[in-house]
Amino acid sequence: MPGDVVTMDKIVALCKRRGFVFPSSEIYGGLGSTYDYGHYGVLLKQNVKGEWWRAMVQDRDDIVALDSAILQHPKVWEASGHLAGFTDPLVDCRTCTQRFRADHLGDLQCPRKPSKPPGQGPDCDLTDARDFNLMFETHVGPVKESASVAYLRPETAQGIFINFKNVLSFARKKPPFGIAQVGKSFRNEITPGNFVFRTREFEQMEMEFFVPPGEAQQWFEYWQQARYDWYVELGIRPDHLVLRAHEADELSHYSSGTSDIEYRFPIGWSELEGVANRGDFDLKAHAEHSGEKLEYFDQATGERYVPHVIEPAAGADRAALAFLVDAYDEEEVAGEQRTVLRLHPRLAPVKAAVLPLVRKDGQPEIAREIVAALRPILAVEYDEGGSIGKRYRRQDEIGTPWGITVDHQTLEDRTVTLRDRDSLAQERLAIDELPGVLARRLAAPWRSPKLGAA
Ligand code: ATP
Repeated sequence: MPGDVVTMDKIVALCKRRGFVFPSSEIYGGLGSTYDYGHYGVLLKQNVKGEWWRAMVQDRDDIVALDSAILQHPKVWEASGHLAGFTDPLVDCRTCTQRFRADHLGDLQCPRKPSKPPGQGPDCDLTDARDFNLMFETHVGPVKESASVAYLRPETAQGIFINFKNVLSFARKKPPFGIAQVGKSFRNEITPGNFVFRTREFEQMEMEFFVPPGEAQQWFEYWQQARYDWYVELGIRPDHLVLRAHEADELSHYSSGTSDIEYRFPIGWSELEGVANRGDFDLKAHAEHSGEKLEYFDQATGERYVPHVIEPAAGADRAALAFLVDAYDEEEVAGEQRTVLRLHPRLAPVKAAVLPLVRKDGQPEIAREIVAALRPILAVEYDEGGSIGKRYRRQDEIGTPWGITVDHQTLEDRTVTLRDRDSLAQERLAIDELPGVLARRLAAPWRSPKLGAA
């Protein structure tokens, strides 16, 4: 896109340089497609999940929280269809011994002849496609035998369905109501890649919304819009976000309608989140396999029914990546190049940096006093290392929206300069005003400066 300077390589380099994300097991040469989050990456992803919880639970009274176990009874995956159907078709090449997704061959490269897709190089010798289950298998207990097989969950959703009855009896809710969960999921992806976009271990943010069957379509539409709006309110540029309805031949076995929210990553338009109308498939399947009744009895009307389910399913890592990509910017300021993350202030890992101009004359002491006053209300960082320009650049690169500089005047009149990350405007404020001003700015609606003036 013209004017958009971001590339995946620049994001990976910035993440490494500023300690957001590191390749995992690096001292042992790394383990393909696994990553570790460093300090700022943890804070960013925590803020993404925090905003999701806020939208799902804190701002409403019809959704409750759940945290189910990663290891579940193997029958869960039989009932959900994952044991039989959670597969990708794979082909092996007998010449280079590499394995490829049969349905992605056109997008892949032959390792021996990279200008050609696998199967089209001069020596390629592909097997027929075979189904490969994406679930990680493990064993529960000390003995490795078939009776002890368990799976790492490939999605968090099934943990919600199997707790439907528990939640219904404790939460005092009736349909329409939802159960929300955030947690790790695992898939033995064959072609992971593109940094944290597709990994084998990742975090999902999923919510199952249980509704009377006659209301399913209306809630399906509601959640598509609500989830699209969530990304836009958190600063994603609307021209980089699209809702795409699945074609009939793309639909999963359980779904009567699915729309993907796609983001325009540097790798092209790709799924950020799926919103699916799952009908009564899940509750019926678990009722059948477990022998438990999973339905709702409305005492007022005497009606008994199996609720239908609308599911918005997002990835925390993918969302964090999209926010990083959308925020990344470069510009020239006073003849110098700067890289800046124009993150929504609520997503920024650090909200304010307090910087004494010099490391003497009582400036560090006042700066520490300001840090102590701000710490109870927002994430703040004290930084006295290096020139002021260098410190600003460091904060710009991690997306800190406000810089508070203590200088010689501060000691005379207890005022500081407040620097805005995006406009670079500097204003003089009394120290006592800082908590109120910053709290108000943090709560205010925000628009990406990359969109230009409104
Ligand atoms: P894809 O088509 O990209 O494989 P999916 O349709 O299988 O994704 P869902 O099962 O709908 O994905 O999972 C919901 C969300 O979980 C996805 O939109 C994505 O954000 C996230 N997600 C799924 N697989 C991965 C992965 N391997 N790595 C990171 N995030 C993932």
